[in-house]
Amino acid sequence: MTISADGTFPDGAVRDRELAGALVAVRERIAGACAAAGRDPGEVTLVAVTKTYPAADVVRLARLGVPDIGENRDREAASKAAEVAAAGVDVRWHFVGRLQRNKCRSVVRYAHLVHSVDRPELVAALAKAGEVGVLLQVSLDRDPARGGCLLEEVPALAAAVAARPELWLRGVMAVAPIDWAPERAFALLAEVSERLRAEYPDATAISAGMSHDLEAAIGYGATHVRIGSALLGNRPPLG
Ligand SMILES: *Cc1c(COP(=O)(O)O)cnc(C)c1O
Repeated sequence: MTISADGTFPDGAVRDRELAGALVAVRERIAGACAAAGRDPGEVTLVAVTKTYPAADVVRLARLGVPDIGENRDREAASKAAEVAAAGVDVRWHFVGRLQRNKCRSVVRYAHLVHSVDRPELVAALAKAGEVGVLLQVSLDRDPARGGCLLEEVPALAAAVAARPELWLRGVMAVAPIDWAPERAFALLAEVSERLRAEYPDATAISAGMSHDLEAAIGYGATHVRIGSALLGNRPPLG
C-alpha cells in the first residue's frame, strides 16, 4: 500500500474520523485515570501500537498528534518505518515485541526505545548495532512464554545495559499476566521500578498498560501506555 502525497486514500476521510474519535476516547480514559491517581496526564506517553495496520494509519496518528508508535515485529516495523519516512512524516518508533539477536541491527536503525530487552545476548547485540534507549522487560509471573527476565535477573541485566555507552537504560516494561488482576501486576512492576531507580535514577520509565488495563497501569505509575485495539480497532487473530 502506498501513501498519496497528502496522506489520504479515497476512503481516507472515514478512517481519519474513526481514528480521531478513538483517540478522543483513549485520551479521556488516560485523563480520567490520571485524575483518579492525582497525576499529570503530561507524565504519560501514549504509544499507539500499530501492528497489522498500514503505514497510512501511522501517518494519520502522527497528524492527530500521536508521534509515538509501537510495533512488535521487525520485518513489519522496518518496512513501515521506511514508508512513513518516505512520506516525510517524523515519528518515534518503539519496539515492544520479542526480539531476536539477529534483528538488533535492523531495529536500531529506526527504533527510539526498545521496550523488550530481557537477556544479556540482546544487550550485547544492540550495543554492537548502534545507539538506542532500552527498557528491561520483566516477567511478572515467571512464565517464559511471553518474554521478560525474572525479577532476580533485573540487577545483572541493568548493570549490563549501564556498562554499554551505546545504550541508555530508561526503565522497565511488563505485560500483565492474563490470569492476574492488573493491579497486582502493576503494583509488582512499580516495586521493580523503584528498586531499579534507587541504583539508576534516570531509569524512570514504566511501560505498562494496554487497551484493557491502562487505568490500572496509570494508577501504579505507568509513564508509557501501549495502546493498540482501543485506537486502531480489533486486529485479526495473529498466526
Ligand atoms: C499488541 C501489543 C500491545 C497493544 O495491545 P492492545 O491490547 O491491542 O492495546 C501492547 N503491548 C505489546 C507488547 C503488544 O504486543
